[in-house]
Amino acid sequence: MSQYRIFNSEDAIAYAREAAQLGPDMILQGAEIGDGNLNQVFRVCQLGEATGWIVKQALPYIRCIGESWPLTRDRARIEAEILLQHGQSCPEFTVAVLHQDASLSAMLLEDLSELQVWRQALLNGQHFADAPVQLGKYLAQVHFHSSDFCLDYQAQRAAQTQFANPKLMSISEAVYFVDPFCDHERNNVAPGIRNDAERLWADQPLKIRVAKLKHDFRCKGQALLHGDLHTGSVMVAAGKLKVIDAEFGGYGPMGFDVGVLIANLLLNLCSQPSSSAQRQRIKDVQAFWQSFNRQFLLLASQTADPALAEPSYIAAFLRQVWQDALGYAGCEMIRRTLGVAHVADIDNIADADQKIVSQRHALALGRTLIMHADQLNDAQLEKIALACRPQC
Ligand code: ADP
Ligand code: MG
Repeated sequence: MSQYRIFNSEDAIAYAREAAQLGPDMILQGAEIGDGNLNQVFRVCQLGEATGWIVKQALPYIRCIGESWPLTRDRARIEAEILLQHGQSCPEFTVAVLHQDASLSAMLLEDLSELQVWRQALLNGQHFADAPVQLGKYLAQVHFHSSDFCLDYQAQRAAQTQFANPKLMSISEAVYFVDPFCDHERNNVAPGIRNDAERLWADQPLKIRVAKLKHDFRCKGQALLHGDLHTGSVMVAAGKLKVIDAEFGGYGPMGFDVGVLIANLLLNLCSQPSSSAQRQRIKDVQAFWQSFNRQFLLLASQTADPALAEPSYIAAFLRQVWQDALGYAGCEMIRRTLGVAHVADIDNIADADQKIVSQRHALALGRTLIMHADQLNDAQLEKIALACRPQC
């Protein structure tokens, strides 16, 4: 079974049976469960069981758009390799890859069906108090172990080549740093915020800041990024957390992953009419950043290179990661409001006026984060985030 074909449920069952070495007598059932935009995801389980195995397969195009936007299937191999690498650095919080087949563009994953997607939990008003701290630990582990703080010169450069992902990362470059800052045909701008978008497209000081973030995204190969660390790539349950979906990963600035996660918490904040829910999201951002900061400092202070292990150097390095993160957070907030891919937190708001308030809030906060990244600390976020909310 090595000839590529687009799986149906029977194909997914056959692949899972072979990959997990399940006997021919085992009665298996399979169903497509993917809510993702890009790939097919099946759950295969024994008859009568609720959990079993997950089969994820890449199509030769972007699923939600169709054959008019072709995309390399090799992304499945790259995703599996990144998840395996991150799984070595942080097994506790990374989904386990049980098998991969590059010719089928498929992989077998542990089934996390007893967990739920964090974005969905936030939409339901559920609060997972440990999740921000766990994610901070996860990110510090995977970033540290792929960075110069852990690897020597040659090993770090070899890893940059091994995990090169230019096709997917150039899509990120376009959708984060190009499309949302001009009147691009791929954009999806609601008529109610068209004026706000046009003002932003004419904002020259903002565009200069974004140019720097875009350039750094290419040049600053600090660590093996997840590359798409939004709240839909995190699955949670009480005391448990797993990160999935790393196909946009590759070497880049650590602040990118940190910023994308922060932005998705802040987009949820913008969608919330209640100030207590808004404050809770700020606390989540602070807990996430402080956890990342603490864990990275701990790991880096044990590094073999005495120059890099110097605590005041690590602190300065982390201050720069924070500044980068605020810039990338701003880009993520703007691109999720004007660009091709929005977030359900805001798109699902039924009341048209409240939706416009949330979208304007996201644009204003995104711009502020980009423009003032070098002046803001995490304690000031609440004041800034609330001040950017427009009056109805
Ligand atoms: P895509 O690359 O298409 O975005 P994802 O990896 O995000 O695909 O998966 C799509 C959805 O499938 C997730 O949002 C989640 O609901 C489900 N899913 C993915 N991996 C697992 C898993 N290991 N266990 C349970 N559900 C999963
Ligand atoms: Mg996804």
